Amino acid sequence: MKLFLKLTLPLVLTAQTWAAEDRFAAVEIKPTHVSGAIHMLEGAGGNIGLSIGDDGTLIVDDQYAPLGDKIQTAIKKLGGDKPRLVLNTHFHGDHTGSNPQFGRTGTIVAHDNVRVRLLSTENFPRSGLPLVTYDDGATVHFNDDTIALIHLPNGHTDGDSAVWFKNSNVVHMGDHFFNGRFPFVDVGSGGSIDGFIANVENVLALVPDDIKIIPGHGALASKVDLRTTIDAVKASSATVRAGLSNGDEPADIAAKLDQDYPGWGSGFINASRWVAIIQADANK
Ligand SMILES: [Zn+2]
Repeated sequence: MKLFLKLTLPLVLTAQTWAAEDRFAAVEIKPTHVSGAIHMLEGAGGNIGLSIGDDGTLIVDDQYAPLGDKIQTAIKKLGGDKPRLVLNTHFHGDHTGSNPQFGRTGTIVAHDNVRVRLLSTENFPRSGLPLVTYDDGATVHFNDDTIALIHLPNGHTDGDSAVWFKNSNVVHMGDHFFNGRFPFVDVGSGGSIDGFIANVENVLALVPDDIKIIPGHGALASKVDLRTTIDAVKASSATVRAGLSNGDEPADIAAKLDQDYPGWGSGFINASRWVAIIQADANK
């Protein structure tokens, strides 16, 4: 979401902030049981993963700051408490917004570049910064699960991780998975289309066929859904690249995508934004 706020004029932003607060006031946090101790929460922003058990509560991503109390209430209803561990799949504000609240009582763990990027975010509260960071990966032992944090280099950003709950057979993909939609690739924050595709292929090769997948955005998914989505990302980006090198107008390329991929541009990234991302990726 960050990219488009950046492009907005400050005066307009003030009005939008009001509108955004209204929007958050109406947001409900919807829980879905995934498997064993694992739950998914949907509200506004990136999907949340939870593990609730004898060791306490672990949260993966935490949406926007105004939703922190609602998220905590939803956790309590599921029998959890204040998160002891907060894992971030990446630094974007719709995944780390409640870090400052949960980081006051819990330990935030993320890839090295999540800390670097949050540190360079203006006025980001100190309590929201990761205290533990890693490069290639790390393993967390919690609620009888072995949780693999796997760094996904230069894909959606330069600081993403997949969070694989090995015993529960669940993986949170962060924003490497917009279920059934064109994805956001943050080229300005070290993201890359080819890296994004390679990262998803690597995870698909690694995890069992019957695993349950929490996407960054969209409904709870299976490996087949992730395969369908990444195949569409591959084919549509190839179409766009061919069109651009052919000298076609971006608007015409986008119109063709809308025809060939009905519904795929109905989320945060519509067909013309997808074309613009692929153009930016080619020019970086
Ligand atoms: Zn993101």
